[in-house]
Amino acid sequence: MTDTRMLIGGGRPAVDPATSMAVTSPVDGRELGRIADATADQVHDAVTAATDAFRAWRRTSGAERARLMHLLADLLERDAEELALLETSDNGKLLRETRTQARFAARNYRFFAGLADKIHGRTVPLDAWDTFDYTVREPVGVAALITAWNSPMQLLANKLAPALAAGCTVVVKPSELAPLTTLRMAELVTEAGFPDGVVNIVTGGAEAGVALTTDPRLGRISFTGSVETGQAIQRAATAALVPVTLELGGKSANIVFDDADLERALPVAVAGIFAAGGQTCIAGSRLLVHERVHDRSCEQVAETARRIVLGDPTDDATQMARWRARRSGCGSRPHRPRPHRRCAAADRRWHSRRRRTSPRLLRRADGLRARRSGVGPRQQEVFGPVLATPPVADEEEASPSANVTEYGLAQRQSGPRMSPAHTGSARELAAGTVWVNTYRYSAAQAPFGVVKKSGYGRERGVEAIDEYLHTKNVLIDL
Ligand code: NAD
Repeated sequence: MTDTRMLIGGGRPAVDPATSMAVTSPVDGRELGRIADATADQVHDAVTAATDAFRAWRRTSGAERARLMHLLADLLERDAEELALLETSDNGKLLRETRTQARFAARNYRFFAGLADKIHGRTVPLDAWDTFDYTVREPVGVAALITAWNSPMQLLANKLAPALAAGCTVVVKPSELAPLTTLRMAELVTEAGFPDGVVNIVTGGAEAGVALTTDPRLGRISFTGSVETGQAIQRAATAALVPVTLELGGKSANIVFDDADLERALPVAVAGIFAAGGQTCIAGSRLLVHERVHDRSCEQVAETARRIVLGDPTDDATQMARWRARRSGCGSRPHRPRPHRRCAAADRRWHSRRRRTSPRLLRRADGLRARRSGVGPRQQEVFGPVLATPPVADEEEASPSANVTEYGLAQRQSGPRMSPAHTGSARELAAGTVWVNTYRYSAAQAPFGVVKKSGYGRERGVEAIDEYLHTKNVLIDL
């Protein structure tokens, strides 16, 4: 059983049963533990602990911060299987996906450990020779790190690794729907030897999040979650003039040109939307297929979707997790009804439009839908295994069609030729990541981020550390 107590200034306050929240597995509805619904005072204490610890932590050498981060990565690797199992029971993801994410998290800590002693400024040549000017890059202070339920270990690593490398102290708040691996991290950072107060972890729901994001002592808020919550956090941060990183929802497009190798492109497109049950921000939920190969592609996608093996997420044969709990965790209240609601609304629109226009093709595959017309759930994030498949007439039309949503997360295009038209449209796509002939591949070294309503800021890659640093200019009269 995981220790579900919060971590505040090195202490682990007991969970008050009277105000605690149940954490239940979406897989089978089992109660996995109870977490504190942090009070505003407890959140305040966590920010105070981080503020107090910041003075000493920022003075530690980059080499020392890197040493501790490598130790943390060692512990993540040591406990990877346990962490993966814990995350699978907590958020219902396939075990092989959570195993990958545990390894990815460890890799992230190592990558940013490598940057911790390479943070430097520059000298600035001035007109006056008797004045010496240089810059230093300094940690922004206390960072609030708030994460979503769908990939807690990986999302935390995206934020915590660059924050620690930069010399920031942090207050972490995981989603109340899947907090257990983050709480396990409380034990791992302590075991690695991070000083008390450098990493603090509070639990709870929106109220705890509001208490955290309205604290004016923060130097940065980094948030991953829905657009609606991101907007609320942006408003709070604006009032306190705290800079924000926002990693929000998406509605990513796969573009399949008519010269694409369909045998290669379509399985990747299927994985792009149906991996993790479509519950990833980068889900390729719009398949824009050239009209010459459109119908053939839809048939093939629907056929592949029909063959997806549903089952126990810990079973290696399972391709999409089946969740049995109706009233627990991420598989129910907030998330399960949305795909169904959106599809029902799309059905109504489609039927009313059909009366006015020529009949359009609607395909269903085991409750998963591929839709030919432009009336599918094309505009809003569904966060589920729902795919819209509008046709596109030519390469010219592809990028504007892909850019039609308010979101700007990943986009992908397929086609064997790297012609100017292809590379040109990669430039035109409004997205933080463009994959060509692949999907979902990501690395600690490569920047990941978003544009438009999907948010702003960058995680991973050398760019991410900038989110936790500011530049100070120093002038010396010689
Ligand atoms: P959510 O917005 O409901 O919750 C995210 C976090 O915010 C949770 O910890 C929650 O407790 C907290 N929160 C809720 N209200 C708050 C408030 N008013 N102030 C401060 N904190 C508050 O999101 P979710 O349902 O957990 O996650 C799904 C969403 O996350 C999807 O839209 C998905 O696309 C997005 N996501 C984006 C990325 C990315 O990198 N862009 C990655 C994963 C998930």
